[in-house]
Amino acid sequence: MELPVIRTAGEEHWDCQSCGVCCRGSLILLSEQDLHKLREQQWENDPEFQGKKLLLRDARAGSGQRLAQQADGSCVFLTAAGRCRVHEKFGAESKPLVCRVFPLQLVPREKQAILTLRRACPSAALDTGRELNEHLPEIKRLVAAGELEISLPTAETTAQPAWQQANRVMAAAARIFGDERFPPVRRVVHALLFARLLDRARTSQLDTAKFSELITLLESGVAAEASSYFSDRRPPSALGGLLFRLTAAEYVRLHPDYLPPGGVFARLKLFRASVRMLRGHGELPTLHSNFPRTTFAALNEPLATTNPALLSTDIQQPLARYLATSAASYQYALAGRKHWSIVQSIRALALTFPMAMYLLRWATAGREPTRDDVARIVTALDRGQGFSSLSGPRYRMVLGLLDFQNDLERIAVWYAR
Ligand code: SF4
Repeated sequence: MELPVIRTAGEEHWDCQSCGVCCRGSLILLSEQDLHKLREQQWENDPEFQGKKLLLRDARAGSGQRLAQQADGSCVFLTAAGRCRVHEKFGAESKPLVCRVFPLQLVPREKQAILTLRRACPSAALDTGRELNEHLPEIKRLVAAGELEISLPTAETTAQPAWQQANRVMAAAARIFGDERFPPVRRVVHALLFARLLDRARTSQLDTAKFSELITLLESGVAAEASSYFSDRRPPSALGGLLFRLTAAEYVRLHPDYLPPGGVFARLKLFRASVRMLRGHGELPTLHSNFPRTTFAALNEPLATTNPALLSTDIQQPLARYLATSAASYQYALAGRKHWSIVQSIRALALTFPMAMYLLRWATAGREPTRDDVARIVTALDRGQGFSSLSGPRYRMVLGLLDFQNDLERIAVWYAR
C-alpha cells in the first residue's frame, strides 16, 4: 500500500545521536512480531541474561508483553556503554518496532497521515539532523511491509459534523500556537482563552457553517482579551499554585537525567519530597540530582532579576518549536492523550509552557541556561503525553480545576516574567 503521508508546513529535523535517552525511563510495548523476533534471538542462552527477566506483562501491548527494565529504569538490553544489545548482536532491524521508528511519528488525519517528530528525543527537540522528508522512504517501507500499521478514519467518520468541527478547532489552535507575531507566552494565553471561550459556548445546536463563524470570531478576539493578564500579572491562587507544583514534581521524574531514588528508604524520600512540594515554601526537595538547591521563593522571582538569559528567544526556541509543531501536526490531540477532548488537550499543551519555565528556573538556578537545558525539559514535557499520571482522568481533573479557577492564564503569565 502506498502511504499517503504529508508534511506540515515548515521544516523539522532529526538524526539519532545515540544518546540513549529513549532507552531510559521508556516503556517498550511489544507487538506479536517483536515478541516473535526476540524469541528467535534466544536471549535465554546468552550468559549475560541468565536468570534475568526480559519481559513483563502489559495489557497495553499488542502482544500483552513489554520489555523489562533495569533497577534505574533503563531498558533491560541497554549496556553500560549506552548501546542496545539487540542492535549490537543482531542489527537495527531486529529491534522492537517502537525503537526503530522513534522519534518519528505518524498522526492519522483525514486522508493522509502527517509525519512529525516526538520531541521526547533531545536531538528532535533541538531540530538536529536531516529534514524529515529524508526519513519518509523508511517509514513508507515499514508501512508497505505491514510492520507499521496506521488506520485513517473512514469517509463516513470524516463526513460527520463532529469530525469537521474538531478539524476546525485544531486548525485554529495550530494558527494560534504558531502565530509568530506574538511571543510564545502570548500564544499560550491566546490558546487558553480560545479553549475556555469555546468550552463555554453552546455549540451543540450549531451547523458547520455557524460553527466556523464562531471559531473565526473567537480566534480573532483572543488577542484583545489577553491584554488584561499581562497588564496585571498575578501569582496563581493557593490551590492553583499547589496543583501546579505537584504537576511539576511529576514532570521532574520524566527528565532524561532523572534517577529514581534507590534503597530501602526510597518511598519515604519520595513521600517527604511530595510533602515539601505541597507546602511550597522553604527549600525545594532534592527530586533530581542534577537540579541545584534553591527555594520556592526564588522560583517565583521575575527572571529579569534571577536568570535573564531564560527570557531570550534563542534559548526558548526548542520550547516554542515544541508548541508550534505539536499544534501544527495535531499530534497533541490525535496522537497524544487518548480519550481527551480537544479543549482538554489544548489546555495540556498550553500548560507545558509555564511548566518548562518553572522547571528551567529550578534546573538552571545560579547558572546560565543553554538550549540543551531547554531541550531536555522539552523531552520531559513530551514524555508526559504517555505517562499515566499526566495523561489520565486525574490530570484532566487538575486542568479542569485550574481552568475553573482562572489559574491557567495566570500561571502562564506569572512564570514567563
Ligand atoms: S533519544 Fe533520540 S538521539 Fe537519543 S538515542 Fe534515542 S532516538 Fe537517538
